[in-house]
Amino acid sequence: TVRTRFAPSPTGYLHVGGARTALFSWLYAKKTKGQFVLRIEDTDRERSTDESVQAIFDGMKWLGLSHDEGPFFQTERFPRYQEIIEQLLEQGDAYHCYCSAEEVEAMREQQRANKQKPRYNGKCRHRTEAVEGVSPVVRFKNPETGMVVFDDLVRGEISIANDELDDLVIARSDGTPTYNLTVVVDDLDMNMTHVIRGDDHINNTPRQINIMKALGAQEPRFAHVPMILGDDGARLSKRHGAVSVMQYRDDGFLPEALLNYLVRLGWSHGDKELFTQAEMIELFDIKDVNRTASTFNTEKLLWINQQYIINSDPERLVEPLSEQLVAQGCDVDKGPSIIELVKTQQERAKTLKEMAEKSLMFYNNYEAFDEKAAKKNLKAASLEPLEMMLATFEALDDWSKEKLHEVIIKTAETLDLKLGKVAQPLRVALSGTSVSPALDATLFLLGKETCIKNIKRGID
Ligand code: GLU
Repeated sequence: TVRTRFAPSPTGYLHVGGARTALFSWLYAKKTKGQFVLRIEDTDRERSTDESVQAIFDGMKWLGLSHDEGPFFQTERFPRYQEIIEQLLEQGDAYHCYCSAEEVEAMREQQRANKQKPRYNGKCRHRTEAVEGVSPVVRFKNPETGMVVFDDLVRGEISIANDELDDLVIARSDGTPTYNLTVVVDDLDMNMTHVIRGDDHINNTPRQINIMKALGAQEPRFAHVPMILGDDGARLSKRHGAVSVMQYRDDGFLPEALLNYLVRLGWSHGDKELFTQAEMIELFDIKDVNRTASTFNTEKLLWINQQYIINSDPERLVEPLSEQLVAQGCDVDKGPSIIELVKTQQERAKTLKEMAEKSLMFYNNYEAFDEKAAKKNLKAASLEPLEMMLATFEALDDWSKEKLHEVIIKTAETLDLKLGKVAQPLRVALSGTSVSPALDATLFLLGKETCIKNIKRGID
C-alpha cells in the first residue's frame, strides 16, 4: 500500500506552501487508499518550539488533513538514529572526521580559488587514528564514482554524478544526527513508498538515496513539488501578507475553500475550478503537478471563498460566522438568529469576516447617522412615509419578512410614491447608513423594538 508523509520542521506556523505539500501527500494517500503519516522533524532544538508544533496540529486539523499514523517526533527517536550511525560506521560506509570548521573552510576557499565546486575533500576517509581532544563528526562515505538516477514523479528523470557529491556530515560532534540522516532512517522505518515534498529538497535527494542504498534499502518514489511565488515573483513569504494557514481562518476563509485554492496551485483538471473533496481525491494525481512554480493569487482565493460561502448549507456557516462576530466584539447571544443572518448575508460577502463586518448593525445600534445618507434621505418628504410605517409596525404582531415586505409596498402604494422614496429613508433610519441587506431582512433581523426606536430617530 501507498504510504506518504508530511514532515514539517516546527520552526514557525503552518504556512500555505507547507499546507499545499501536505494536501498533495494527503490526496495521493487517499486516492490510492493508502496511509498518510505525520512526522514532526524537531531535531533542531534551537529553532523548534512547542507553539509551532501546536500551530501545525491546529492548521492540519482546521484543514481536515487528518493523519492515519503519528504524529511521530524525531526527538523521540535519537537511539534509533544512533544505531544506524553505528551501523554505517561498522560497515565502513561512514567515518569519523576530525577536521575543524576552519580546516574545512580553508579547503573550500582553495577549491573556489581553483574554480572547483567547494566540497569536503575526504581528508579523514583514510585516517586510522583518533585526534586527541577533538570530538569528531561522522561523515557518510559517498560513492566516488557512478551516478545517482531517480525518476521524479513531477520532474521526470534526474541524474547526478557521485563525484559532484561530497561526504555529508550525518552526526555532529555532539553526536546529534543531521537532517539527511534522520529523514532517511524515518522514511525507511516508516515504510514510506512516496516522498512528496518541496523542491527545495531536491539537492538532498541523491544524497539520501545513497545512504538508503548503503543501508541495503529500496528507496521510495520521490515527487518534488515546485514552490509558490508571491505576485512579485519572489518566493511566497510573510511580506506578501497572510501566509499562515490559521491567519486565513482569522481572515474569514473556509478551510474547504483554501484547500480548493491550494489544490489548483500547480495542478489542474481541464478548466474546472471548484472541486468537492471527493472530486479532488478522485481526480488528483501527483504526476499531473506542474514542474514550474505557481503564483499565489489572493483575488482568486477570494473568489473561490465566495463561491464556497454562496454554495454552503447555511448551517455550515453558523459557527465560523459566530466566531468572526465574537472576534469583532459582538455578543452573539443578544443578536438575531445566526442562521437567519447567514441566509441574509450569504451572497453579500467574500469572506466570513466581511460578512461579520456587514452584520455589526444587528449587534450595536449606530451612534450617529452617516451625514451624507441622512441629508439625502431624511428630509421633510420622508416624514410621511416614515410616520405611516412607524404606525403600521407598532400595530404589527406578525414580525415576519413577508409581512414586513408588504408594509413597505403598501406604504408606497397608499402614498403614491416610488418604492425608493419609501425604502431609502427607512434604510437610513434603520441602519444609520445607505447600505444594508434587503429591508425586509434588515427589519426582521433587527427586531421590532429596535426598528421602532430607529424609525423614531429617523423622524426626529
Ligand atoms: N522537515 C523538512 C522541512 O520542513 C521536510 C523534509 C522532507 O519532507 O523530507 O523542510
